[in-house]
Amino acid sequence: MSTQGDEEETQDMATDIMWFRRDLRVADHPALSAAADADRLLCVFVLDRRILAGDRMSPARAIYLRHALADLASSLEDRGSRLVVREGDPTTVITDLAREVEADAVHVSEDHTPFARTRDGAVESALQDVGTELVRHGGVTIAPPGSVRTGSGSVYKVFTPFHRSWKDREHGDPLDAPGSLPPAPDGIEGLALSDCDLLAADGPPQAWPDGGEGPARQRLERWLEGAVEDYDDQRDVMAADGTSRLSPDLHMGCLSPREVWSRLDRRRTGHSTYATEIAWRDFYLHVMAEWPETARTAFRPEYRDLPWRDDPEGLQAWKDGMTGYPVVDAAMRQLTTTGWMHNRARMIVASFLCKDLLIDWREGEAHFMRHLVDADVASNNGGWQWAAGTGTDAQPFFRIFNPVTQGTRFDPEGSYVRRYVPELADLPTRSIHAPWKLSDEDQRRHGVRIGTDYPAPIVDHGQARERALEWFEAHKG
Ligand code: FAD
Repeated sequence: MSTQGDEEETQDMATDIMWFRRDLRVADHPALSAAADADRLLCVFVLDRRILAGDRMSPARAIYLRHALADLASSLEDRGSRLVVREGDPTTVITDLAREVEADAVHVSEDHTPFARTRDGAVESALQDVGTELVRHGGVTIAPPGSVRTGSGSVYKVFTPFHRSWKDREHGDPLDAPGSLPPAPDGIEGLALSDCDLLAADGPPQAWPDGGEGPARQRLERWLEGAVEDYDDQRDVMAADGTSRLSPDLHMGCLSPREVWSRLDRRRTGHSTYATEIAWRDFYLHVMAEWPETARTAFRPEYRDLPWRDDPEGLQAWKDGMTGYPVVDAAMRQLTTTGWMHNRARMIVASFLCKDLLIDWREGEAHFMRHLVDADVASNNGGWQWAAGTGTDAQPFFRIFNPVTQGTRFDPEGSYVRRYVPELADLPTRSIHAPWKLSDEDQRRHGVRIGTDYPAPIVDHGQARERALEWFEAHKG
């Protein structure tokens, strides 16, 4: 039984909510650090069926999320708090909780996709009805979208000048993780992670290593201790472990991009190239925040009505890794068996889909969303529009990757192809990127019959290239 004095004290206590989304960490977390000033703090994650059961969700990402939430829950418990997981429409869930705990504020790390903005707008106005403020903080990007502008005040449409201005800005020092957090209000229960069917996906056969801030931090430390030095030389070698593989950790916010960036010694070559790649992530989020329509349509208005070909068989062969071009097929199979794909390979398969097959880049974008562990609306869209020639810094349409040349340059030993296309494992290196050129006798000798064990090319690249150039000339706006 409480006395009147206790009740008054409770009423004077400020209760805030920390609503986690894709910021599943405690270190360098501006929203959490601000929320830690409250007397009581409710930490919440809402499982949103529109995302988790939507047709752009990947099982690899669901598994990553499950690990990341478990890791976050344990970090919060270590600091005297806990994570409440609820399922539903965030507008209802967050507003009901705000009413129940009489929250003064709901803190979030602002996200910049059209979906996130609409969602947050709806939550913000519902919260107004219960007298709670939605407080947006940074942390998803390094520089806040809209803050990097040209001399005439517009948002950059091209990466190089954006980067020049972005890299010289003061991004602030990373914040330490709060040592302790305010206690959670009593009586608020959530779901056990093991009971969340939305997170119970079966992953790809070779699942991604554990998700979450703890494992992500170990990956970051290993990367900074060694391989980053060789990033310049190794980053395009598809069979090598030459890139950081931190993209899922950055996407889910298990690592703060500002922290990763601030840990680099940008006077050293590998570090400095790596820092530039991190800037691309910011760039695409800035572009999407400024021009949200690019989530659905070409960034360049003159390319919005291109009559992409309807080719269900070609699309299926591409998705299945059965185009007859070994490097394309290896990459597409890497995607479906591991949930990840090397950056060079992403560029090659995207060029093949949009230019050799003249299939709409949005088909490829959606397929990547359904499989990638690091699928990120802004970076994925930016990458696809770059490859299709419709985007910001786009690869001009006439620059069409030759899959054989790309394979020979960036998988010179054929190890990447052998790993993911076992039918070709016994081919000599000189034939591995163009196996259809082998004579019947050589095919027999190396244990593969083209057209039976492995497909013949579904298009002739030389002819497809000519067709693409004519098509583009005829239809560009
Ligand atoms: P590293 O080479 O180690 O780079 C470090 C980090 O920099 C990455 O983790 C990523 O956060 C960022 N980065 C690097 N290159 C890019 C880039 N071109 N654009 C934006 N950020 C970049 N990246 C995603 O995170 N999610 C996606 O859904 C995605 N889809 C893509 C689709 C296409 C068609 C293309 C061409 C690229 C796409 N990328 C995407 C960018 C890039 O391929 C991945 O970020 C990279 O392969 C991730 O591996 P890594 O962490 O080892 O990269």
